[in-house]
Amino acid sequence: MNDKSLKDHRQIGQEQDLFVHSELVGSGLPLFTPKGTLLRKIVENYMYDLLKEEGYEHVWSPHIARKDLFEVSGHLEKFSEDMFPAMKTKGREYVLKAMNCPHHIQIYQRKPISYKEMPQRYAEIATVYRSEQSGELGGLTRVMSITMDDAHIFIRKDQIKDEFKKALDIDKKMLKDFGFKEYWIRLSLWDPKNKTKYLGDEKTWEEMQRQMRELLKETKTPFKEVVGEAAFYGPKMDLMAVDSHGREWQLSTIQLDFNLPERFKLSYVGEDGKGHMPYIIHRATLGAVERFLGVWLEHVQGILPLWLSPVQITLIPIADRHLKEVEKMAEELKSENIRVEVDSRAETMQNKIRQATLQKVPYMGIIGDKEINDQTVSVRTRDGKDLGKLNLSHFVKRVKQEIDQKT
Ligand SMILES: [Zn+2]
Repeated sequence: MNDKSLKDHRQIGQEQDLFVHSELVGSGLPLFTPKGTLLRKIVENYMYDLLKEEGYEHVWSPHIARKDLFEVSGHLEKFSEDMFPAMKTKGREYVLKAMNCPHHIQIYQRKPISYKEMPQRYAEIATVYRSEQSGELGGLTRVMSITMDDAHIFIRKDQIKDEFKKALDIDKKMLKDFGFKEYWIRLSLWDPKNKTKYLGDEKTWEEMQRQMRELLKETKTPFKEVVGEAAFYGPKMDLMAVDSHGREWQLSTIQLDFNLPERFKLSYVGEDGKGHMPYIIHRATLGAVERFLGVWLEHVQGILPLWLSPVQITLIPIADRHLKEVEKMAEELKSENIRVEVDSRAETMQNKIRQATLQKVPYMGIIGDKEINDQTVSVRTRDGKDLGKLNLSHFVKRVKQEIDQKT
């Protein structure tokens, strides 16, 4: 980073005790601490719930599959450099998954599906593994264990535009909730001078690209077209988010696919009772959870909004004799679904305040004799504001309101 006052997400991760690397585990394979795991679960659960609300069904698939699956999908042919080599065990060969699409396709193929049941939207927040040069690895923005908030949508041709709109709306909601104010879409198109590079016929390409352009205009979404950047299997939209320091990051992606339905001979039963080939949309909103966390931690410079903070309140007993009462108060806060931690270390109160401030915990509650007597908490914020003594129930109400407003 150019600006020296800006903190790198690795520094934030260390100060707030979120993730570590171990030489024995290897670079590009971050380990998440209890607090870091809580943070990623909060983010993952947010996506899980949002996708569920939007009509996606969650599925689950194993981390490995027979090599044959990735042969049929064509990934071993086109993508093998990025995949870990196949492993042989008990006479069979398995591959570690680098993407979830082939697995999800097998779920789609479990039964005949009618045109009335389309689209089928399968979501999975799943870790996939991609091989990288170790020199390219560091922090969270480039990893080999990549947790995608992945989804595959199986659709009829007449549903493509609506489904792109739906996916785009989800991406925009996420941006707003995570405090990204500026963004644009990179619309990747085919290169009409090089048609043989692509699957599918000209009419379909032109029609799909026209619909996407139309959608972006209708929804007043800022976008730029890039000719020749489409995948060989279809056009795509990538969402570029601008962070608080003006840097651009690719987060979400929505990709149309003409290829995999053909390779796996997918079909749905049409109104005419005959089999028709569906299309697939690959989409991810956060992209990779690890990379997203790296980008976002730098965007907010470690100052997480209350609703996303793994620890929302640190309670600090002034002396050891207050600990028992403080723990009781913590239980009360926990029963209100507030994430609270008690700093019971044998440290001075000043040191505990310093530590919670460094960790950017939104609220600190300091409790001594007076507070215990009148069931209050002396509240301080991470930016050093003294809110004075608050009645415990008022404090709970205030915190819950702030959580609900997602401010
Ligand atoms: Zn996919």
